Amino acid sequence: MQSELSIVWIYPDLLSTYGDQGNVLVLEQRARARNIPTRTVYVRSSDPVPQQGDIYLIGGGEDRPQILGAERLRKDGGLHAAISRGAAMLAVCAGYQIMGSVFGGEEGQPVPGIELLDISSGRGERRSVGELAADVDPALGLPTLTGFENHMGVTRLGPGVRPLSRTIVGTGNGDGTEGCYAGKVIGTYLHGPALARNPALADLLLTWAAGPLAPMDDTWYQRLRDERLRTVIPR
Ligand code: GLN
Repeated sequence: MQSELSIVWIYPDLLSTYGDQGNVLVLEQRARARNIPTRTVYVRSSDPVPQQGDIYLIGGGEDRPQILGAERLRKDGGLHAAISRGAAMLAVCAGYQIMGSVFGGEEGQPVPGIELLDISSGRGERRSVGELAADVDPALGLPTLTGFENHMGVTRLGPGVRPLSRTIVGTGNGDGTEGCYAGKVIGTYLHGPALARNPALADLLLTWAAGPLAPMDDTWYQRLRDERLRTVIPR
């Protein structure tokens, strides 16, 4: 990070379903609460992806925009360059699938991804819709994740990534795990937006990009999280 934290929102014109853009707002707000100045770059699909960002975000989308987004990102190459220089990233749903080697198109046909994560996705038997709750890999030290999912895709993880979490409720990757991570890149099926429902995940990205953070008063966040988790997780 230089004088300000640079947040890059990739393809708001293609991939931004279910309020995923809220992830940008949460990062901005939680950074500023720690006196970290931020600058957000909105990269439309006709624009080149800047390589000097600190945190990259990409959201969910319908099948056709997802295919188009994958093509453009592959041709662009900027995201690869940014991640190789150590930038952090959160990729959600369609954005998550795009990070892999392949994903299922609108007829289930294999569509090449951009190979930033060692995952491959295809179309599942039925759509997974509903609440998700999942226990995070203890190595990351985060509380239970909550959010909602809406996708046809199922995702297989290769040896180059670790599962982000294990599902308590919901489908996630489809094999009892949800999302994955490798280095500072996180992929997930969580909408909500994910960072609003899971501020600790936002702080993990901020810590990766900007170093240790001052604590924040999260009383309201915590109340809402507790309420949601009580409702979603069966006793
Ligand atoms: N098109 C993808 C799927 O259905 C992603 C959906 C989404 O981003 N919500 O699996």
